[in-house]
Amino acid sequence: MESSKKGLVIITGASSGIGAATAKLFSENGFPLLLIGRRVEKIEALDLPNTLCKKVDVTDHKAFLTAVREAEGKFGEAEAIINNAGVMLLGDIAIQNPQEWKTMFDVNIMGVLNGMQIVLPQMRARKSGTIINVSSIAGRKTFGNHAAYCGTKFGVHAITENAREEAALDNVRMVTIAPGAVETELLSHTTNQDIKDGYESWKEEMGGVLKPEDIANAIWYAFNQPQGVNVREIVIAATKQQ
Ligand code: NDP
Repeated sequence: MESSKKGLVIITGASSGIGAATAKLFSENGFPLLLIGRRVEKIEALDLPNTLCKKVDVTDHKAFLTAVREAEGKFGEAEAIINNAGVMLLGDIAIQNPQEWKTMFDVNIMGVLNGMQIVLPQMRARKSGTIINVSSIAGRKTFGNHAAYCGTKFGVHAITENAREEAALDNVRMVTIAPGAVETELLSHTTNQDIKDGYESWKEEMGGVLKPEDIANAIWYAFNQPQGVNVREIVIAATKQQ
């Protein structure tokens, strides 16, 4: 199904993994993009047409807002935002450095809230728009050494669903995407080597995980429905993931 909408799409965390794959897919389908991340050189290397690339930390509300306003000046108001930027710092909370919890809550929760607030007033006024938040299957069930990460992702589910109820009568869609394990850079930031090794063995035993493009396709599916259809949540994982 081909979308007739070609408004601005904002994607956070576009420098790698799911965000980069999603940016490519939306670009191939003709959407102007604002791509956000800290490693802007990696975003620019995607070399996508009709795209503004901005070095922005999603926890910095002011910088995020400035980038969005600049993109709107070029491409018009945002048709959609995909709040995808996230970090996963797995750890045993009995010994984990609390700074790692703060980083996850700042990026995974505050970053998502920042993105939502920046576009929501205009979407509600326009009676159209889509907010897609990338959560995790770890926002639906718990896993060992995921306590703080699960806390952030259960939060993303709750925030998205609550905001959806509030904006529904203004015809604004809210979607939660909850991927299982996907081959990206996500695990690389975890500092505990034993936990990292255990995660890698778990993936191997499973016989493979999803590709970033699998998640991009799920995001595209939800977005590409008519505005009157809100796919509220997609939980998507490798067939062999339990
Ligand atoms: P990656 O690590 O490859 O991508 C994460 C992206 O987030 C990067 O582009 C990174 O860009 C960006 N990012 C991190 N911190 C910030 C920040 N403060 N400001 C702006 N951008 C930031 O992992 P994934 O593609 O896997 O992760 C994307 C999303 O998918 C995350 O929300 C993750 O929790 C979720 N997810 C991933 C799963 C997986 O197994 N891979 C499973 C379930 C959910 P930069 O460093 O340039 O700022």
